[in-house]
Amino acid sequence: MSVAPPLLAVEGLTKSYGGIHAVRGVSFSLRSGEILALIGPNGAGKSTCFDMLNGQNKPDTGHVRLLGEETTAKKPRDIWRMGVGRTFQITATFATMTVRENVQVALISHGRKLFNLFGSAPNFDRGEAGRLLELVGMGGYAERPCGELAYGDLKRLELAVALANQPKLLLMDEPTAGMAPRERVELMRLTAQIAREKSIGVLFTEHDMDVVFEHADRIIVLNRGTLIAEGSPAEVRSNPQVQAVYLGEGLLYEAEHREGASA
Ligand code: ATP
Repeated sequence: MSVAPPLLAVEGLTKSYGGIHAVRGVSFSLRSGEILALIGPNGAGKSTCFDMLNGQNKPDTGHVRLLGEETTAKKPRDIWRMGVGRTFQITATFATMTVRENVQVALISHGRKLFNLFGSAPNFDRGEAGRLLELVGMGGYAERPCGELAYGDLKRLELAVALANQPKLLLMDEPTAGMAPRERVELMRLTAQIAREKSIGVLFTEHDMDVVFEHADRIIVLNRGTLIAEGSPAEVRSNPQVQAVYLGEGLLYEAEHREGASA
């Protein structure tokens, strides 16, 4: 009996820059509907790893497979078409367009509808755009120009834009960077809820350990390009190697301390 391949399978991913081993032999997998956090100190190789998953960077060796299909040598656009969405650290929306129009543009792009933007586009998928905005709690903002939105609302819009492509896998590079602590927790709670409902796998990098330990189903830890730990939040927190890496930053201690205080 054949076993279904995981949503994402990463095998022996390696990338060097001159003498710097940015990523060395990294392997992991991710299931549909699972929220996986990729953490590690500065320079650990997180961004390099991410860029190799969405085709912006090519590995020296190793494989990336989506539902068993090799994506390693494919272009970013082709990987996106296969169902790998990405949200950016710097939000990428059109400031002069309304919130709804931004989602409509994403839907047009997903459906490869090529027609005059000033013709029938204003009515294209208005209903679906509205549904996506409701999903991320932005229904009341549909007719506002994007340029007027607060940063936290822009991030929720960015999530709706990413969902317009009906991703199977969502890559989120520091999704909560620049947000206030309460907004961070709220955005990740919303993302996790939608991902589980729609069976979307989520891989995210994050420096905020509260967000990581509260929302990740599983955590993988990179240090100097090497995967040093993988497991549930409790397993990773109690891993001596992880504690040693983070000791200087005191982040795990802080997360543990806060959890203990709220128990
Ligand atoms: P941060 O949390 O600070 O963003 P990171 O975990 O994302 O760090 P990377 O940006 O992937 O780490 O960097 C991993 C290593 O590879 C670092 O030593 C970095 O200096 C090096 N590196 C990354 N990109 C390049 C490049 N284009 N040329 C040379 N070295 C690079």
